[in-house]
Amino acid sequence: MNRDSFQNKRVLVMGLGRFGGGLDSALFAAKAGAEICVTDLANETELADSLGKLKEYDISFCLEEHREDDFRQTDILIVNPAVPLDNKYVEIARKAGCLVTSQMELFFQLCPARIIGITGANGKSTTTSLTAHLLKSGCGQEGVGYDNIFLGGNIGHQPLLDIVDEMKNNDVAVLEISNFQLEQLAQIQVAPDIALITNLTANHLDRHGTFEAYCRVKEGIFQYQNMSTEIPVVSIFNAEDPITRDWYQKHLNDSGRQCLTFNADDVPDEYAEVFRLPGRVNRSNLAAALAIVSCFNVDPKRVKEAIQSFEGLPNRCQLIAETNDVRWYDDSKATTPVSTMAALNGLETKRGQTPFIVLIAGGYDKQISFAELGTCITNRAKAVVLIGQTAPKIAEAIQSTSSDCTIKYADSMEQAVQMSYELAASGDVVLMSPACASYDMFKNYAERAAAFVVAVNDLE
Ligand code: ADP
Repeated sequence: MNRDSFQNKRVLVMGLGRFGGGLDSALFAAKAGAEICVTDLANETELADSLGKLKEYDISFCLEEHREDDFRQTDILIVNPAVPLDNKYVEIARKAGCLVTSQMELFFQLCPARIIGITGANGKSTTTSLTAHLLKSGCGQEGVGYDNIFLGGNIGHQPLLDIVDEMKNNDVAVLEISNFQLEQLAQIQVAPDIALITNLTANHLDRHGTFEAYCRVKEGIFQYQNMSTEIPVVSIFNAEDPITRDWYQKHLNDSGRQCLTFNADDVPDEYAEVFRLPGRVNRSNLAAALAIVSCFNVDPKRVKEAIQSFEGLPNRCQLIAETNDVRWYDDSKATTPVSTMAALNGLETKRGQTPFIVLIAGGYDKQISFAELGTCITNRAKAVVLIGQTAPKIAEAIQSTSSDCTIKYADSMEQAVQMSYELAASGDVVLMSPACASYDMFKNYAERAAAFVVAVNDLE
């Protein structure tokens, strides 16, 4: 499959979406001279941003529905990763003899550069962008092993197919790969040249059924690496995670594969001292990125400078203000109890062992248990301000631990910030880490973060 295979072909893009993947596929096919139709169950208003970027191309649209005939009458179907593999319309296309593919599959087939792929339950985006940032610091250095670094995949609106022509043999593409994208890659049994898993905890069980099935998909990132290439593929596992530690043992003696592990404790002190992201989980992300960097010859001085200049990604334990010796953190991306616990456990205290955190939490109810979070709040927070649908459930989880943590309720983010301001003393941290999705009060986690930042900036 190459760009020419699209010339004058009928191409159907299923799932335009709002995150850039469908848009990238449609733009690629349009520029390759295909006759394109885009279909999505969402409406014109919901897709406005993506639609605006396709205006100048001759594309037909079928929104708010899928039509069976469109799937029967196409030559190539490009499927969004959000669509399950056994979707009825995809089946129709397959039966009609159409070539079914995806943005990721096409990228793997077209990309001449070496591919690094990062997957895992938590920390994917942070580890991927940190890896790209560290490797970029080596660009131009003699003997480093590559020319340019590209960042993309399941991470903030970065096009892949649209820029694949700019990539050369001696470049490196650093990709975040979601589980859904891994499922798609498994269809053609391909995987990155350098593959890393950050960690494994239950996630997306609504789609994968069981934790075992979810893990099987994740293991595909190692299973389908091409071990027959001249340069050995590299497989990198988290030594602190029991499942991935077993995978390391299992693959250790494979020929054509180099196996590495990482551990948060491996990070040399001189790097840990200059790293600005808080907590052990972020040190684990740094250890992961450094394991990848060790496959190249980047000058350690450049690595250290790059570690120091890495500011982290927005909305992930991001320090947004410091006033009256109180630090305010935006962790709006923490949409599960596990990520909120990572933030609570990770933030360093200026006040010894005393619980020093004022936590703002709560939101849309995904029916996940808050029992463990309740214990963690009791251990780590002096007060919690609860918002949204889950407020009573989180309060109950805290109270069942006979905690003396102060519990307050707020109707809006503005009120939650005001209450937190009153509760926080000098040296404390206010952490907005909701442990829940945002849909009950906001459009998405970014809008929730924006409301938090505005309210903090408005404090007298
Ligand atoms: P992902 O891309 O896997 O969703 P992110 O890097 O975007 O991960 O981080 C999402 C949330 O998870 C943030 O709240 C962050 O503080 C927390 N987090 C980051 N790294 C880890 C990790 N290694 N383990 C657990 N939680 C993490």
